Amino acid sequence: MGLSAQTLADGFGRRFHYLRLSVTEVCNFRCTYCLPDGWKKTAPLSFLRVDEVGRLVAAFSDLGLSKVRLTGGEPTVRKDIEALIAAAASTPGVGKVAMTTNGWNLHKHAASWRAAGLTHLNVSVDSLDTETFAAITGRDRLPEVLAGIDGSLVAGYSAVKLNAVLLRESAQAGFAAWSEFVRERPVAVRFIELMRTGDNADFFLKHHVRGTVLQAWLTANGWTQRPRDFDDGPAVEYEHPDHAGRIGLIAPYGAGFCDSCNRLRVTARGKLRLCLFGEGGIDLRDLLQHDADRAELGERIRSSMGGKAQGHRLHENRPGDTRHLAQLGG
Ligand code: SAM
Ligand code: SF4
Repeated sequence: MGLSAQTLADGFGRRFHYLRLSVTEVCNFRCTYCLPDGWKKTAPLSFLRVDEVGRLVAAFSDLGLSKVRLTGGEPTVRKDIEALIAAAASTPGVGKVAMTTNGWNLHKHAASWRAAGLTHLNVSVDSLDTETFAAITGRDRLPEVLAGIDGSLVAGYSAVKLNAVLLRESAQAGFAAWSEFVRERPVAVRFIELMRTGDNADFFLKHHVRGTVLQAWLTANGWTQRPRDFDDGPAVEYEHPDHAGRIGLIAPYGAGFCDSCNRLRVTARGKLRLCLFGEGGIDLRDLLQHDADRAELGERIRSSMGGKAQGHRLHENRPGDTRHLAQLGG
C-alpha cells in the first residue's frame, strides 16, 4: 500500500483528482488547427511504457486521484493501448478511465477497450458532413467514426461524449445537424472554442469564433443550461426535452475558465505539466522505473503543485511553449 489517500491542491484552493495522461505524440490525422502537415518525428520515440504508466497512476492514486484520461497525439495508434487502459483501470482508487480519440478504429475496438477497463469515451468529430470532416481532419473517415460511436453506445460505457472544435464557418453551419444527431442518441456533443497554440496563429485569427454564437443558437432553439456535476470540468452543457443527448460548450476564452480547473497533465515522455498552456514540465520519469520509488514520486508531484499558475495567458496571446495540442495531450 502507498500513502493514505489525500487530495492534491494548489495555492488557489483548487483540488485535483483528474489526470490527463498523454501516451503518444504520434497522430494519423492532420487536423487543420492541430497538425495541418501531419505528425513529424522531431525526437526519438520513447513514450511511457505500460509499467511506467502503472507506477505513475498508482502514485497519483495515493494522492487522491480517481480519474485518468488517456490522450495524445492519437492514443489508439499505440499497439499496446489495451494494456495501457488495463494498467490504469487496475489501479486501486481509480474509478474512471477515459480516453480521447479521433475514432479512426473505434468501430473495431469499442467492446474490447470497454472490457479492458475503459469507462468513458470522448470521440472528436468536427463535422457531420463527410466533405467538411475530410477537409478538417485530412482523412475521409467519417463513416467509420460514426459507426464506432454507435458501436460504443451499445458497449456499456458510462458516458460517450463527442468533441467538435468550433470553427467560424463549418461549426455554425452544423449546429442543426448536431441537434438532430443527439435527438435519439444519449451522447453529449461538446464544442471547444479554438485555442491559439504556438503553431496555429494565422489559422486562429481566421477561424476563431466565440462560444457565444453556439449559446445564442441553443437558446433560440429551446435548449436550456443544465446544472454542472462535480467533475464536469469547464464544460457548460445544455439540454432539450425532445432530445436524448446534450450539447455543450468548452470556452477557454470565457471568464473564470481556469477557476474550475481540476486536472493535471503528464506528457507522453513523463513530464508533469501543471497547465496546458504553461512552459516546461517537471520530469517524473526517473522515478517511474521501480515500485520502490512510489512515495518519492508522490512527494515530487505534491511539492510541484505550488508552481501551478492561477490561469492561462491566452488572452495575451501567450500559449506557453505548446506548439500544438498533440504535443501535450489536449
Ligand atoms: N487525437 C485525439 C483526438 O483528436 O481526439 C486526442 C488528442 S487531441 C489533441 C484532443 C482534443 O483537442 C481533440 O478534441 C481536438 O479536437 C482538440 N484540439 C486540438 N487542437 C485544438 C485547438 N487548437 N483548439 C481547440 N481544441 C483543440
Ligand atoms: Fe491528431 Fe487529435 Fe491533433 Fe487531430 S486533434 S491532429 S486527431 S492529435
